[in-house]
Amino acid sequence: MVKGILKGMFVVLKHSRRKPVTVQYPEEAIPWHTKRFRGRVILNLDTCIGCSLCSQICPNESDHMVYYDYENGKNRKKIYPAVNIGTCTYCGLCQAVCPTGSIRLSNDGTLASFGKDFDYLPDRLSRTEEELKHHD
Ligand code: SF4
Ligand code: SF4
Repeated sequence: MVKGILKGMFVVLKHSRRKPVTVQYPEEAIPWHTKRFRGRVILNLDTCIGCSLCSQICPNESDHMVYYDYENGKNRKKIYPAVNIGTCTYCGLCQAVCPTGSIRLSNDGTLASFGKDFDYLPDRLSRTEEELKHHD
């Protein structure tokens, strides 16, 4: 019996010297991104030419073209992609096919929110989640 108690105390003492592994998410960021991590799609409004290749390749129509009144000098029709992140599978095909590198999968994986609007229109799609927190 004494042996069992000592064994238990040894385990407690061993673990009491360890650093805590609990992370206070979401206040504290979790460093879980890897190099090839595929996070939320992000758009560069200044280089998009409105070719719509990204929406054509999208397997489930998460990426769709919409009119957005933004002038970048290369997109005369002013059509830009919008992405429904509720249905996006993060396959990366839109990134692979974009001739200008305007759309890509970022390393942004912190998408929890109380909002129910998953359709990211061009303006929203062009901002990181951190920027959106501070944007009106
Ligand atoms: S990552 Fe895939 S599913 Fe998501 S918008 Fe791009 S092509 Fe569509
Ligand atoms: S993001 Fe790329 S593929 Fe999509 S419309 Fe713009 S330039 Fe074309």
